[in-house]
Amino acid sequence: MGEAKLKESATKKFTTQFPICALCGGDRASATREHMPPKSLFDQSHRPDRLVMPACNECNGGTSKADLTAAMLSRWNYDSPEQERRDHSRLANQVRKQAPELIEEWTKLDQLDRKNAMEHLRSYGVMVPDDAALMTIGPQTIKQFNIFAHKATLCLHFEHFRKPLLNSGRVSAHWRTKEDFSKDGVPAELLEIMPKYGTLVQGKWNSSETFEYRYDLNQETGLFACLARLRTGLFISGFTASNADLVAGESDGYWIKPNELLKDPVHFSKKN
Ligand SMILES: [Zn+2]
Repeated sequence: MGEAKLKESATKKFTTQFPICALCGGDRASATREHMPPKSLFDQSHRPDRLVMPACNECNGGTSKADLTAAMLSRWNYDSPEQERRDHSRLANQVRKQAPELIEEWTKLDQLDRKNAMEHLRSYGVMVPDDAALMTIGPQTIKQFNIFAHKATLCLHFEHFRKPLLNSGRVSAHWRTKEDFSKDGVPAELLEIMPKYGTLVQGKWNSSETFEYRYDLNQETGLFACLARLRTGLFISGFTASNADLVAGESDGYWIKPNELLKDPVHFSKKN
């Protein structure tokens, strides 16, 4: 059997086993296998074939820009090894084709902004060389990060419950860059509420350098929490509640239905 045929039959088997998309809350049938984190996050896109979720074509296609943004920005590093730089320029070409508005947003720093951005990073303990090609992020990138953070949370929810979060439930997710944590590290209280640990492991291949997460879940109430690290540049915390009533009185944080992920929620243009 050829590789394409094998892939097709693996997809068929998987979507038969999991007929509902893990991202739109039960609105659509699954049609494809979605990887979280995406292949592009891994060196040369090599990735163990685990952490796979059922997705419909709309959700798969609708979140691909967010995948690319996360793969790219989690590699923003000032002392990158050679491989990372090669992956980075390959991804940049993809972004240039798929989402030129993002490149524009990242590179629009003028001299003064550059100086401020550099001081800002250094004040957070990030060692930036004087000749670093500095990048900035704005509302477009922030929106893609928000989509990615919610998608990652929905995927990890699926991974641990082995069923999608339905639209009767709610999801809330947040992201942080390494600058946010570089001084004091990840807050201990976040780690304490998530005692369980996961990464992508297949045989001897452990990808914890690229991706690892902590989580906790309560099968009875259907509450789930996770904190994920992607490469060295991006952190995501996410929460799901299988029943919207559980979080109805919550004043802090924004909770959305899974199927609002691609409907441009107002708060997605801001870092929450
Ligand atoms: Zn979907």
